[in-house]
Amino acid sequence: MSEAKKDARVANLEKVKAELLARKQELEQEMTTLYQDKFSDDQVQDAGDQALTSVMESLKSSFHDAKLEEYNRIIKALDMIKDGTYGICVDCDNPILEKRLKSFPNATRCLACQEAFENTHHDSI
Ligand SMILES: [Zn+2]
Repeated sequence: MSEAKKDARVANLEKVKAELLARKQELEQEMTTLYQDKFSDDQVQDAGDQALTSVMESLKSSFHDAKLEEYNRIIKALDMIKDGTYGICVDCDNPILEKRLKSFPNATRCLACQEAFENTHHDSI
């Protein structure tokens, strides 16, 4: 790898890392807010209100699960940045497309290798 190329990659990584850290903080705040809501609207309710509340609670918890999943992905991605394995396919050593990393920051395989992997590992998702 030429020096210029290496520099460009490091600069890009720093940017990615900053974005991931910002998103991580955002998610932490969103998840904290979710919990605060849950505890603050603890008032006397009639049966209709209670049914609505339980729907809201299950919506909230699935919303929370999605956030937590994204949060875990970001934590993993930050670990991989630290290890220097971020954005590099574990199978073919090629860089993983930025578009793919945007949706899956902790992706460890490029799309082609991921598809090949899934075709040979049907039972593991
Ligand atoms: Zn690959």
